[in-house]
Amino acid sequence: MAERTIRMPETLCPYCQHPLDACTPPFGLDSPSPGDLSICIQCGGFLEIAPDLKMQALEESKLLHIRMIDPEGFKLLMTMRQAVLKVRQNHANGGDRP
Ligand SMILES: [Zn+2]
Repeated sequence: MAERTIRMPETLCPYCQHPLDACTPPFGLDSPSPGDLSICIQCGGFLEIAPDLKMQALEESKLLHIRMIDPEGFKLLMTMRQAVLKVRQNHANGGDRP
């Protein structure tokens, strides 16, 4: 899958404190913008891009809201999280990132 990585203002993941300074928009989405959802590459935590482009924790209520109004989108999020956790596992097993 061809992906490009976009540099972001560095923020610590609100869940695991992993430094997040890049974003790889999945599924050919365009550059990240405020309100977009993201997932921590380290712990798979759900993140929301703040107006200053920093990552903040996605509120549980918003996640539930998405689940109600957009079941397909919610499913996509879950799939993405699975993918992130799988990639992370590969890294742990000597993957392709330093
Ligand atoms: Zn994290």
